[in-house]
Amino acid sequence: MLIFSDKNVFSSDCSNCNYLSYTIINTVESMNVFCFFKPLDKRASHLYFFAMLFIKRSNFDQLLESLTGDYRVYVPRLMGDGTGYSLLGESDTNYEIGKIRSFDPLKSFYFLGREKVAEDFKPDIPRDDKPPCIVGAKACDLKGFKVLDFVFIDDEFGDPTYMKARKEGLIISADCTGVGETCFCTAIGIDPWPDSEFDINLSPVDDGFIVTTGSDKGRDLVESNWKLFVEEDDAQANAVKQNRDTVKSDVMKRAQEKRIPVADRLKRLIDKQYESEIWKDVSEDCVECGACNTICPTCHCFLLYDQKSDGKLARFRIWDSCMIHDFARVAGGENPRDRLWMRLRNRFDKKFNYFPEVLNEIGCTGCGRCVAACPGKIDIREVLARLEV
Ligand code: SF4
Ligand code: SF4
Repeated sequence: MLIFSDKNVFSSDCSNCNYLSYTIINTVESMNVFCFFKPLDKRASHLYFFAMLFIKRSNFDQLLESLTGDYRVYVPRLMGDGTGYSLLGESDTNYEIGKIRSFDPLKSFYFLGREKVAEDFKPDIPRDDKPPCIVGAKACDLKGFKVLDFVFIDDEFGDPTYMKARKEGLIISADCTGVGETCFCTAIGIDPWPDSEFDINLSPVDDGFIVTTGSDKGRDLVESNWKLFVEEDDAQANAVKQNRDTVKSDVMKRAQEKRIPVADRLKRLIDKQYESEIWKDVSEDCVECGACNTICPTCHCFLLYDQKSDGKLARFRIWDSCMIHDFARVAGGENPRDRLWMRLRNRFDKKFNYFPEVLNEIGCTGCGRCVAACPGKIDIREVLARLEV
């Protein structure tokens, strides 16, 4: 086991307790001795803990059940050849951690498809929902938080529902163990295993999971349930590495077959092809349904409308789509993007030009959901490949 401080790396065993105990000898700060599971000194928080632990599937079932007291626990379940999320019930062990990202994007739990945001002209709607715990979230969806956080988290004008769920929620992510027909995360520079935005991450191995902690909340969770974990062994560590290497190489192969331009060329290509006929040509197949927006983990536009609810005037917010004709229409009826090809171009421009400019992040995570959802069979990978011509 390795422990990294901001200055040094230490490795040590603990003889003070019998089960899963390790010491961190912090020679840099004060020569104090810390135990991961029972810190002798709270100053241990300046250390970054990278120990790998193993949890048996049956113990993980137990852990999830215990979380239902504090969280609405959502688990991915097999649906056809993929997975979709639903609430975990009591004594419920019917869920699938590995595979690929779910059909539904994670944003559904943080930025609801339809939500009452004000009632009787007052914005304070009482909410007694428990925060969400999302299990099995994949790397592409977690990267989507970069865009969503940028849009919805703000001291003055932030979105209260989103900020509450992000702050109080729990994310138990997982490595992908397969590759979807439409996946291309590696082309966007994302590995098919989470590297941030999770509290704990699961790497599936035989009969359980290798667990990595990624936040104080995750470390607290492991610490308070330490009896459920044991140290990983070398064979499990190798199995994790092998799975990651295989899945990454399979996604790369699939992305290469589609000739997707390398990520850091995309912004330049959108600029270069802004006036191209490609947009008109591709939009011929679009039926303006908006599915590509609603299924996307980074799309975040919304519409406000008022209606009576329980005898009171209420304001609702619903997901919107920049592909729909009236999306950009302004008072007086003018519409700066009144042609479908303009709206299609805008969607690409926003993802591959605007967000790299304002956030230094591509607004697409390569999840491939829009490819699968489009009734016009418009494939974002093929459109990107055409820009290179
Ligand atoms: S644009 Fe398509 S592939 Fe990219 S993140 Fe959105 S749904 Fe996924
Ligand atoms: S999903 Fe396809 S058909 Fe529907 S709006 Fe998007 S590009 Fe057009």
